[in-house]
Amino acid sequence: MPHAYDVIIAGCGPTGAMLAAELRLHDVRVLVVEQQTEPASAVRIVGLHIRSLELMAMRGLLERILPHGRKRPASAYFAAIAKPAPPGLDSRYAYLLGIPQPVIERLLEEHAVELGAQVRRGCAVAGFEQDDEGVTVELADGERLRSRYLVGGDGARSTVRKLLGVGFPGEPARTESLMGEMEVGVPPEEVAVTVAAIRETHQRFWLRPAGVRVYSVLVPAAGVSDRAEPPTLEDFKQQLHAVAGTDFGVHSPRWLSRFGDATRLADSYRVGRVLLAGDAAHIHPPIGGQGLNLGVQDAFNLGWKLAAQIHGWAPETLLDTYQTERRPVAEAVLDNTRAQTELLSSEPGAQAVRRLLTELMDFDEVNLHLLEKITAIGIRYDFGTGPDLLGRRLRDIDVKQGHLYDLLHRGRGLLLDRTERLTVDGWSDRVDHLADSTAALDAPSVLLRPDGHVAWIGDDQQDVNDHLSRWFGKPAH
Ligand SMILES: Cc1cc2nc3c(=O)[nH]c(=O)nc-3n(C[C@H](O)[C@H](O)[C@H](O)COP(=O)(O)OP(=O)(O)OC[C@H]3O[C@@H](n4cnc5c(N)ncnc54)[C@H](O)[C@@H]3O)c2cc1C
Repeated sequence: MPHAYDVIIAGCGPTGAMLAAELRLHDVRVLVVEQQTEPASAVRIVGLHIRSLELMAMRGLLERILPHGRKRPASAYFAAIAKPAPPGLDSRYAYLLGIPQPVIERLLEEHAVELGAQVRRGCAVAGFEQDDEGVTVELADGERLRSRYLVGGDGARSTVRKLLGVGFPGEPARTESLMGEMEVGVPPEEVAVTVAAIRETHQRFWLRPAGVRVYSVLVPAAGVSDRAEPPTLEDFKQQLHAVAGTDFGVHSPRWLSRFGDATRLADSYRVGRVLLAGDAAHIHPPIGGQGLNLGVQDAFNLGWKLAAQIHGWAPETLLDTYQTERRPVAEAVLDNTRAQTELLSSEPGAQAVRRLLTELMDFDEVNLHLLEKITAIGIRYDFGTGPDLLGRRLRDIDVKQGHLYDLLHRGRGLLLDRTERLTVDGWSDRVDHLADSTAALDAPSVLLRPDGHVAWIGDDQQDVNDHLSRWFGKPAH
C-alpha cells in the first residue's frame, strides 16, 4: 500500500493539534484522527505559562489567542503558595494567560487546518503494525491507512502507547477530585465568607465565580459513587456538605468531571516509527497547571525533527533527541507535582514544611527558581559544554526588524549573526540568516533551532558549519 500520509496523529487534543501545525510548516502530509465527533465541552480553565506563550508568539499565534484569555501577573504559584514574581523575570511574555481548554484546542486545530492538516473526527485509532517503510494504521471502523510515522497524542489512556507495549510506570491515583461548573442558591457574600474560612485548611477545595451566575467547584471525590461513571450533581452536594457543612444550594450544572492524581511516565517515547507525546507519554496531578503546556512543548520539540526525518535531511540521531530532551523535562514536572501534592496535605508535618517554604519563597532566588520550573523557561537541554545560554531558549530580544520571535514564524532555524560576516550557505533551504550587529544579544552570534533553543554560540564560520551539520544535516551543495 502506498503511503497516503507522512504522519498520522492519534488525537486532536492540544498536543496533536500543535504537532500537526508544526509538521505542516514543513509541508509534511498530516492526518489527525480524533475519536470524538465534537471538541470537548468541559470548560476547564487552563493557564498558558510563559514558555507556551513564547511558543505561540514564535508562530504568530499569540495575537489570536490573547483576546480569548485573561492575563494574570506571573507569580511563583507553587503548591498554591502565591508570591509575586521576583524582579529579573527574563521574558517579554511574563504573565499567565487563563483560557478555557476547549478554546485553546479549537484555536490550535484551526491553525493546523489552515496550514493544511487534515482532521478526521469521529474515528479512533484501533490498531497498527509497523515495518521498515512505514506504519499501517487501523481505524475503529476497520479502514486501514498507510503512513510513514504514527504519533500517539491520544491522552492519558493512550491506545497507541498500550498497543506499543511501552511501560507506563509510576504511582496510581491516591486522591480523586470532582470539578465542575454550576450555579449557587445563596448570596455571593455568604459563599465568599464560608469558602475563605475552609480554604485556610483545605487546599483541595474551591467554590469561585466563573462567569455570570456560574461558579467553579472543586471538592475531594472521596467515597463518591462509581469511578467509571461520570459524577452527578448529587455527588457534588454530598461532598460540599462533607467539607463545608452546606451544599450552597448548588443547581443547574454546566458540566461535571472527575480527575485523579496518578503520576506516570512512559518508559520510551519512541519505538521505531511510532512516537508518543503529551498526556500519552506522561501524567501527573494538575497542580501548577502544567500538563497542557508540557504536551504543546513536546509537539514543538518533535515537529521539526520529524519533518527533517521525513524530508531526508535529519542527522542520524536527531529524532532520538526528542526523547533525550523531553523525557527528563517530563520527569522534572512529575517530580515538582509530587512535591506540590505533599505540600497540600493537611497533615501537621506537611503543613510545617509548607510554612517553611512560604518563608523561603520570600527569597528572590528561590521564588525565581520555582517560577522558572513551573513556567518552563528554566529548561536547559544538554547540548554539551559551553556558556550558560547553550541549550536554553533565547528570549524574544529586539533585532533591527523588531522582535526576534517574529522571524521564527516559519519554523526554520536562524543564525543570528552580530558579527555580520557569517553565512548559512549550504543550509539556506532550512536555516535563515540575520546579520544584525545591533541585536540585543550578549554573544557574538547564536544558532537557533526551530524551537528557539540555542544550538551554538560563537563567531567562527567553520565552527558554525559544524553545528549546522549537527542539527540540520549535510549541506545542500
Ligand atoms: C482539572 C484539570 C485542570 C488542568 N489544568 C491545567 C492547566 O491549568 N494547565 C495545563 O497545562 N494543563 C492542565 N491540565 C492538564 C491538561 O488538561 C492535559 O495535560 C492536556 O489536555 C493534555 O493534552 P493532550 O493533547 O496530550 O491529551 P488530551 O487533551 O487528553 O487529548 C487527547 C485526544 O485524543 C483523543 N483520543 C483518545 N484516544 C484516541 C484514539 N484511540 N484515536 C483517536 N483519538 C483518540 C481524545 O478524544 C482527545 O481528544 C488540567 C487537567 C485537569 C484534569
